[in-house]
Amino acid sequence: MRKQAPKPSATNTVHFACFQCRKAFKQRGSSNWNPDIPEQPFPCPECKRPMTRLGRYFKAPPQRAGRQWLKVELLYFYGERFQSGQLGLGTKCRTLALTLAYLSGLGHPEAEVRERLKTIRVARSRPST
Ligand SMILES: [Zn+2]
Repeated sequence: MRKQAPKPSATNTVHFACFQCRKAFKQRGSSNWNPDIPEQPFPCPECKRPMTRLGRYFKAPPQRAGRQWLKVELLYFYGERFQSGQLGLGTKCRTLALTLAYLSGLGHPEAEVRERLKTIRVARSRPST
């Protein structure tokens, strides 16, 4: 075997998002494909809460785009980790309404998805500081 094992070095970055602050960062020295590099927690620089780890296909909405962030959090709740570019989520879930349709298409009862969305909306509606 002449093949060299890849060195577990920081060759990649992982996307992290804080749903509370609507901020996303890339963590240096992490990897979302190399299992030799341990996952590291990443506290939000704003609120110090642990951030949510997301895949490389995650694109952070602008901070002011509240509905887009609700969309992301809703998808996350239902198991989406943005690790595949094949799903075409950018198109399928362009709006919150499309996202509801997409999730109910996956078999989640629409009433339940709406209820979940309401819960997230309430949890995130706080006066911005
Ligand atoms: Zn935060």
